Amino acid sequence: MVSLKNLTYTELERFVLERGWQRYRAYQLAAWLYKHLPDSFDDFTNLPKGVRKWLGERFLLYSLEVVERQISTDGTQKFLFRTKDGNFVESVLIPDKDRLTLCISTQVGCRMGCRFCLTGNQGFKRNLSCAEIVDQILVVQKHIPERLTNIVIMGMGEPLDNYENTLKAISIITDPRCIALSYRKVTLSTVGLIPQLERLLAQGPKVTLSVSLNAPNPSKRAEIMPVERGYPIKRVISLLSRYCKRWRKPPTFEYVLLRGFNDSLEDAAELADLLKGIRCKINLIPFNPWEGSSFERPLEEDVLAFQEYLIERNFSVFVRKSRGRDILAACGQLRWKYQR
Ligand code: SAH
Ligand code: SF4
Repeated sequence: MVSLKNLTYTELERFVLERGWQRYRAYQLAAWLYKHLPDSFDDFTNLPKGVRKWLGERFLLYSLEVVERQISTDGTQKFLFRTKDGNFVESVLIPDKDRLTLCISTQVGCRMGCRFCLTGNQGFKRNLSCAEIVDQILVVQKHIPERLTNIVIMGMGEPLDNYENTLKAISIITDPRCIALSYRKVTLSTVGLIPQLERLLAQGPKVTLSVSLNAPNPSKRAEIMPVERGYPIKRVISLLSRYCKRWRKPPTFEYVLLRGFNDSLEDAAELADLLKGIRCKINLIPFNPWEGSSFERPLEEDVLAFQEYLIERNFSVFVRKSRGRDILAACGQLRWKYQR
């Protein structure tokens, strides 16, 4: 069975009109699918009974099922979902002061093979459908009383490697008739696949962008991120500076600090040179270890020295708190091979 959540609002409208129904039915359907979080098509009470039955026989209401929910000592929660074809994906819920952020996945696994990332080391299985991306949000929202305020597309997978489905999902997340979050509350993190990134940027601000930089120079980056060989970071940076000049929210660069590899003050100096003159924010992420990883977490004092150096060079720099490490829910600790 297929899901109506694979359709953007415009496509949903076309679907409705093609059936000879009135246009406002699309509005009603979207409200049920994305706002009221019903349990079955029988709940769609403002639709005729026959229509409800017809929909129920043909379409899936939720494409994911929660199989495990873990709660960290710091309040972070990890949801493990099973897809209809028996794959597993994870989302992470991060409460923080006045924000409630959900980190969602776009692929089962990832093809980018970054050496420090558990998902990347497990290989690639398949892309998630648009419905599977969106359902992570809806199913989690069904399980919690508070409203989600932010979405970060930073879970498993490289979102721009699943371009069509990810962009459709973003359209549903930000459409006022669907999930209705402002695009400023939706962040997409990418390694910078240049053709897709350019396509995305050319459309104007659809999301807040975050680019995974992770190394102070191209040759070090190539050692830990194979993607550097095809899509050099310097080209990614010039693309961003060309397009994002007038964006309300400048892009972020993420930098995973790996002890003894890219966490020295010389590395910080090189990084500052690489990003000189670029309007951006820098997020430092101390490496989160996983079983079998060949890197180590940096020392706290090195992280602070790294940050201070960059602040002195006039960058706005934040250290990402690694939330949910005890339940393997922190950045780079998500996995799709599920063992009990
Ligand atoms: N594929 C996208 C989004 C998912 S990864 C991307 O790479 O941007 C999200 C972030 O987690 C990236 O910035 C990545 O560099 C970081 N990350 C991956 N593994 C990590 C680890 N073990 N510890 C800390 N951060 C990690
Ligand atoms: Fe994929 Fe991102 Fe992990 Fe790299 S860091 S392997 S792109 S999920």
